[in-house]
Amino acid sequence: MTFSTLRRIDARLLTLLAATFLLLFDNLNFWSALVHATGGLALRTMPLLLGTFVVILLVFNAVLTLVNFRFVIKPVLIILFMLSAATSCFMSTYGTHIDKAMVQNLFETDVFEARELLNWQLLLTVLLLGVVPSLAVAYCSQPTFPRLRRDLLGKATTVGVSIVIASALLLIFFKSLAPTIREHRELRFLLTPTNYIQAVNGYLKQMARRPLAVAPLGTDAIKGEHWRGSRRRTATIMVVGETARADNFSLNGYARETNPLLSRQRDLINFSQMQSCGTATAVSVPCVFSGLGREHYTDTKPRSQQGLLDVIAHAGFSVLWRDNNSGCKGACDRVAHEDWSTPTPGEPLCDGDECDDERMLTKLPELIRGGGQDMLIVLHQKGSHGPAYWRRYPGAFKHFGPVCETNELDQCSRESIVAAYDNTIRYTDYFRSRAIDTLRQSASLDDVDTALVYFSDHGESLG
Ligand SMILES: [Zn+2]
Repeated sequence: MTFSTLRRIDARLLTLLAATFLLLFDNLNFWSALVHATGGLALRTMPLLLGTFVVILLVFNAVLTLVNFRFVIKPVLIILFMLSAATSCFMSTYGTHIDKAMVQNLFETDVFEARELLNWQLLLTVLLLGVVPSLAVAYCSQPTFPRLRRDLLGKATTVGVSIVIASALLLIFFKSLAPTIREHRELRFLLTPTNYIQAVNGYLKQMARRPLAVAPLGTDAIKGEHWRGSRRRTATIMVVGETARADNFSLNGYARETNPLLSRQRDLINFSQMQSCGTATAVSVPCVFSGLGREHYTDTKPRSQQGLLDVIAHAGFSVLWRDNNSGCKGACDRVAHEDWSTPTPGEPLCDGDECDDERMLTKLPELIRGGGQDMLIVLHQKGSHGPAYWRRYPGAFKHFGPVCETNELDQCSRESIVAAYDNTIRYTDYFRSRAIDTLRQSASLDDVDTALVYFSDHGESLG
């Protein structure tokens, strides 16, 4: 492209070039993470990688098209080039990604800390990937726009066609892309510039909400008469399951025996028709412990109001949350909390970076014996968390097979995916049953009344 063509560049070509530049040069972290997550740079992964590239390029270009007006597009591009260059360099240097917490750090850091983040590499990158293209846009290009009516029509066509092609590609690649994105949530925070735009937006929203007072709930809660009249203490275990689909429980009529132990337990009550609050842990867990119900739930409300565990504590119970998942999402903020998800060296119940759920049963009898008062113990399982179902149970629980042993679910047959999933349900069956047996033992040895409640945060679509 010669200097004179750059000067009289078509405005539509300018946004396409800018989108390509951002996607190629400011997203090396994103591409290397995506290549890694999809199983390396190979002929097999090429269609998926190319498809992803085209989808993102179409989306970037469509968004830029919406602001592609005289006096608007040039400043927008310059800001994007400068911030994206800095963000990209920051991520490579510190091996980090950009989310709300990172933006909060940046805004709330002091001058000395901020100065430590500046270095030659950052300045050079900003010069090459930020200043140079910005200068090109600012001084060299005088984009030509068609007449308004034709311009608007052209923009509508570009955006419309982009959405159609991107949707079609997403449909084609959904089966391989969806589990990759779910398992590698960091990808979302690596894609520049959407990562910092989202993060700044989230941070500003959070600032607008502050200070967040937590409204009390059920401070007058007391134990019922029957409870108060009893001489025996009570110990209740509440198992919060993960991704357990009711359809795959033999208790609900599933053909495979996925509940061999639980179905033999006495006094079992099974509620077979339950619906969850959401389809993600981050929604379902706070929702189910809040007093809001599905209808009135929003992302912020549970954090501003006490929930079930607070009410139970108000009534005079000791409450403990044991976690083998990714935390309680605010549900246990004001009660005792133990993290059991981080392996310690040599721990037999852990493999690599994760631990089996039964690790949470460690020293439960002692805990109940020493409790001294009515108690509720919540056990938050890793359960059937996907897509790596085969990693959710110890080797001895590989009951159904052959199982899918890769995150790339498109490499596996549906049968092998379901077999791995059913093994997780069967392992949860064992976990719950062991918890019940522990309670039965405490009931007879320590003179306590016991109960166990189990529910999953949500189910699973299983493809
Ligand atoms: Zn979940």
